[in-house]
Amino acid sequence: MKYRFEKPINAAIGTEKYQCAITWRNGGFIADEPVSQGGRDSGPDPYTLLLSSLASCTLITLRMYIDRKGWEVPEIRVNTNMYSEIREGATITVIDRDIYFPQAVPDDQKLRLQEIAKACPISRILENQVTVRTFMQRDPETAKKILYQNDSIAVVWRPELCQHATRCWKELPQVFRPKEKKWVDVDGAPATQIIEQVHRCPSGALAVEAIVKDAGAA
Ligand code: SF4
Repeated sequence: MKYRFEKPINAAIGTEKYQCAITWRNGGFIADEPVSQGGRDSGPDPYTLLLSSLASCTLITLRMYIDRKGWEVPEIRVNTNMYSEIREGATITVIDRDIYFPQAVPDDQKLRLQEIAKACPISRILENQVTVRTFMQRDPETAKKILYQNDSIAVVWRPELCQHATRCWKELPQVFRPKEKKWVDVDGAPATQIIEQVHRCPSGALAVEAIVKDAGAA
C-alpha cells in the first residue's frame, strides 16, 4: 500500500460557521457552506469540490490525449452537476458531465474524446467501489502500553487504541510485523524512519516514548 500523497490533505474548522481551512501540498484555500445552509459562501462547498474534481480531471485527461494526437482543439469546457433519486428503495446519485468545444471539432474526434473522458481517473474512482475508512485519535493517557526499544529509540504501542488501520505495517513492514510475537522490531529501520512512521498512526496507538541518542527530533 502506498498513499497517493506524501502528506495528507489537511482540513480544520473552528467555531466560525462553516469555514474549513484546507491545506494541500502547495498552499491552502477555504471551503464553506452556502448562506442557505448557514455558511457564508466564502469558498466552494463539499459537493462543488467533488464536481470540480471530476471536471478538472476530465479536462486534464482530454488535454493530454488531444496533445498526444496532435489534434487542433484550442479549448475544452465541461459542466458538471448532480442529483439524487430513489430507485427501488435505494438512493442513487447521478452525476452529469457535459463536454463541449467552443470551436469546431470533427464528430469522430468528439466521439473518441467522450470515451476518453469516461476513463479519466476520477471517473473510475467514482464509478468503482470506494471504501472510506474513518479513524479517530484518542487520548493515550489511560490505555495500557507495551514498550519496544533499543539504544536509539523507544516506541510504545497501546493495543486498546489500535484501530487496525494497517498503515504502519503496510508502509514500514521491516519494523511493524503483525504476524510476529514481538511485532515491533525497532532494529528494523533507522530511528528517524520509525519516528516518521509512528507519527502517521491515525489512532494514537503508536508513540515515540524516548529517543535515546540523537535520532532526529520527534
Ligand atoms: S498505524 Fe496505528 S492504528 Fe494502524 S495498525 Fe498501526 S498501530 Fe494500529
